[in-house]
Amino acid sequence: MSRISKADRQLQLQREEAGDHLYANRVRVYPKSVHGPVRRFKWAVLIVCLGIYYLLPWLRWHRGINQPDQAVLLSLWHERFYFFNLEFWPQDIYYLTGLLIMGAVTLFLVTSLIGRVWCGYTCPQTVWTDLFMWIERLIEGDRNERMKRDAEKPTFDTVWRKASKHAIWLGIAFWTGGAWIMYYVDAPTVTVEFWTGTASKEVYFFTFLFTATTYLLAGWAREQVCTFMCPWPRFQSAMLDEQSVTVTYQGWRGEPRLRGRRHEGDSGGDCIDCGACVTACPTGIDIRDGIQLECINCGLCIDACNHVMERTGRPAWLITWDTLADQAAKAEGRQTTLHLLRPRTLIYISALLVAVVVMTAALLMRSSVGLSVLHDRAPLFVRLPDGNLRNGYTVKIVNKGPNIALFELRTDGVNAASLAEADEGLGPASRLGLLVKGDSVGTFRITVAGAPDRLVDGSQGIDFNLRNTDTGEQTVYHSLFMGPR
Ligand code: SF4
Ligand code: SF4
Repeated sequence: MSRISKADRQLQLQREEAGDHLYANRVRVYPKSVHGPVRRFKWAVLIVCLGIYYLLPWLRWHRGINQPDQAVLLSLWHERFYFFNLEFWPQDIYYLTGLLIMGAVTLFLVTSLIGRVWCGYTCPQTVWTDLFMWIERLIEGDRNERMKRDAEKPTFDTVWRKASKHAIWLGIAFWTGGAWIMYYVDAPTVTVEFWTGTASKEVYFFTFLFTATTYLLAGWAREQVCTFMCPWPRFQSAMLDEQSVTVTYQGWRGEPRLRGRRHEGDSGGDCIDCGACVTACPTGIDIRDGIQLECINCGLCIDACNHVMERTGRPAWLITWDTLADQAAKAEGRQTTLHLLRPRTLIYISALLVAVVVMTAALLMRSSVGLSVLHDRAPLFVRLPDGNLRNGYTVKIVNKGPNIALFELRTDGVNAASLAEADEGLGPASRLGLLVKGDSVGTFRITVAGAPDRLVDGSQGIDFNLRNTDTGEQTVYHSLFMGPR
C-alpha cells in the first residue's frame, strides 16, 4: 500500500508555498493510474467521445445530385450547415442561438444534479488530457517512474521515451486538427487535397493551428486549463447546493485518520492517510479537504480509495458520490433522501422544456423561402407625372428548395401599387412573377409606384408578400414607403 513518499511531501510543500504567493511556479502533477468501475466508465465515455469526433465527418448522407453527401458539414464556401436531413442557411442563425441556450441550460441542470460531470468526463480538455496521459504512462511508466525520470539526469532511455511520447502526442494532435477541418470541408476531398498539396492555405493554417493548441493544452497545460484558464469552475458553484451529488470524502467515517497499518483495538476512522486518493487525482488535490474549485468530479479518487479499503478489509466507498446534505445527516446518524426535484432544478427543467418546445415548433414550421427587402438610400422617392410616388427596393429571395421556383411578389399598404422589375423589364403590374434557381438567392431591383394616403413624417408601412407558386409557401417582409414630409 502506498504511503505518502518523500517526493509527494516535497510536492505538498511546494503547493503550500505557492499558496502564499500571488505568482508561483507550476507544481507538476503526476497522476497515478487507477483501476476500478469509475475508471472503466471513464474509458468508455472517452472512447465514445473520440469515436464520434474522429469518425462523424466520414459518415455519408445522400441529399441528391450536386449536394454535399457529408452527414454533418458546416460549409463556409456554401454558407450552409448540413446536419443529416436538416439544412441551415445563414438566415437560420437563431437556431444556433437556440441550440446554445439549450446546451447551457442542460449544463446548468446536470451540474445542479450531479456536479461537474461535464468537466470530469466529456469536456474536450479532459478527454484529450486523459488520452495523452495514457500515452505518457505507456511510454514513461506510472507516477513513481515518471517522477524519478524527471528528478534524475536525463539518460538515453529517458530521452528516447520522451521523444517518442511527444512524437505520438503530435501525431494525435495533428489527427485532431485534421478531423476538425473535416467538419468544414468534405472529408475525403480535403484529405486527398491535403496530402497532394492542393488544399487551400486556410486548410493548412487551421489544421496546424488546432494541432498546436491540442498538443499544448492536452500535453503541457493539462490541469492548468481547468484550474486557471477555464471560466466554468468559477461560476459552477452558483449551480451547486447541498443536494447536488458530487465526489465526497465521508469524513464522519474516515476521521480521525490513522496512518499506516491497523492493529487490533485501534480507534481511528477508516482513512489510513495513505495518500492514494491524492496521487490518483489528475488535478493533484486532496478530496478530503472538501469541495474545491480544482475538483473536476472525475471520481478517480473513488477507485483509488476503494482499492485501499479492499486491501485493509474495510467497507468500500469511503470516498463516494453523495450530497453534502446526506453526508451531514449520516454524520449525525440520520438517513436522508435524494431531492432531485427542488426549486433550482425545476427552474432549469422548465427553461429547458420551453427552449425544446420553441425550437421544435420553429423547426417544424421552418419555411423553405426567405425574403429580405432593402429600400434605396437615394433617391428616397420620385414623383411621377401622374402624381403618384415611386420608391426603389433591392429584393432578395432565398429559395432553399433544390429546384428552380417561380415566386409571386405583391405589396399591401399602398393604394393602387404597381410593381416593376427594371432588369428583366417586368411590370408595371399589381404582382410580379420572379424565377429563382434552386438552393440559391435571387436578387432583384424592384420599383413600387402608388398613391400613399397615410404618410406620417414622410413614410408609411408597406408589406411585401412573397408566395412560392409551386408549394404555396408564403412569407411577408415589412418595409417603408417614402414620400414628402
Ligand atoms: S478530487 Fe477526486 S474527483 Fe476531484 S478531480 Fe481529484 S480525483 Fe477527480
Ligand atoms: S481517503 Fe482513502 S485513499 Fe485517501 S488517504 Fe484515506 S484511505 Fe487513503
